[in-house]
Amino acid sequence: MKIHEYQGKEILREFGVTTPRGSPCFSVEEAVAAAQQLGGSVWVVKAQIHAGGRGKGGGVKVAKSLGEVRSFAQQILGMQLVTHQTGPQGQKVRRLLVEEGAQIAREFYVGMVVDRAAQRVALLASSEGGMEIEEVAKHSPEKIRTVRIDPAAGLTAAQAADTARAIGIPDAANAAAVQVLQGLYCAFVEKDAMLAEINPLILTADNRVVALDAKFNFDSNALFRHPEIVAMRDLDEEDPAEIEASRFDLSYISLDGDIGCLVNGAGLAMATMDIIKLYGGSPANFLDVGGGASKEKVTEAFKLMLKNPHLKAILVNIFGGIMKCDVIAEGVVAAAREVSLNVPLVVRLEGTNVELGKKILAESGLPIISGNDMADAAQKVVSAAAKG
Ligand code: GDP
Ligand code: MN
Repeated sequence: MKIHEYQGKEILREFGVTTPRGSPCFSVEEAVAAAQQLGGSVWVVKAQIHAGGRGKGGGVKVAKSLGEVRSFAQQILGMQLVTHQTGPQGQKVRRLLVEEGAQIAREFYVGMVVDRAAQRVALLASSEGGMEIEEVAKHSPEKIRTVRIDPAAGLTAAQAADTARAIGIPDAANAAAVQVLQGLYCAFVEKDAMLAEINPLILTADNRVVALDAKFNFDSNALFRHPEIVAMRDLDEEDPAEIEASRFDLSYISLDGDIGCLVNGAGLAMATMDIIKLYGGSPANFLDVGGGASKEKVTEAFKLMLKNPHLKAILVNIFGGIMKCDVIAEGVVAAAREVSLNVPLVVRLEGTNVELGKKILAESGLPIISGNDMADAAQKVVSAAAKG
């Protein structure tokens, strides 16, 4: 689960990391009032969306007067902000962060991720702040320093101090940097984050170390123990189909292809997407209806897939293990009738009561294309989608 920058900064402050003062705003008037309240003579007006690259996209503006705060807020609020992470359609800006301006002497990058291979949290740090870390990793990987952290010891002061020195933070600011790095590590672990990034982390002329940006991604499997994180969820930033799916306990991820997939079991769902690709097609979604898929669940799954305007065909791929094929077939038929299906439907069933299941499909009177095995079903759905 992702959160906004201003929420990420609230968490960082809780863990002793210095950030600029600022407040979230939902209207132009609120933005101007916030700037007034902050005082000073320079403010930063920042679009709050769950995507990075806002600066380049025109979503971060430095204002030198209250008049400029007003006009930037007017410009940014409601805009369709396009960044390299939003896709070409962009994301509508509904919230702003208005902050006091910072005096940047240097910009750094610090981030934490889970390194699965090492089974540790890894701290990544670089002198190349303010730019996309992916670009740094590609063109000058030697400029990224990685520290894999022993979970028993945590990030030690010595490791943090070395890291700060290695990326070029001057000694006069070393203690401040150590506090930031250790704070970031504690926040990461205590809040069950999967990713935490400060880009840029800045050094000011008076040797303060300040988090100018904050990005967090939390492990959704641990949200049950963090109601305070769940409260930060912004549904406007999430895919409506995925929100709808979560209401019915369906594991659904939107993709950009045109073949809908309805599968039981995550592994089989992955294999189904692979084989669609193998035969030259492109999946419109990942969808695991789970082991105990009821008729209602299957119907909701069909409705979800059909909401996608790019959908050209559907592949149902079910292995009836605990679930019996005849039950699934009845569910598929009922769902197809209820939603008045308007794209070709290919069904591949295997497992318990498969003959009975196939008979139900054949006798339903619905134009269902039967797949004999996965390869056959995938080829049939790819060619049906290509015709559509
Ligand atoms: P992102 O583009 O979505 O990662 O948004 P950031 O929060 O990182 O902002 C983009 C860039 O705006 C930063 O890298 C800074 O260079 C600049 N910026 C952000 N806040 C300030 C500020 O207070 N003063 C100045 N001068 N620049 C800022
Ligand atoms: Mn940034």
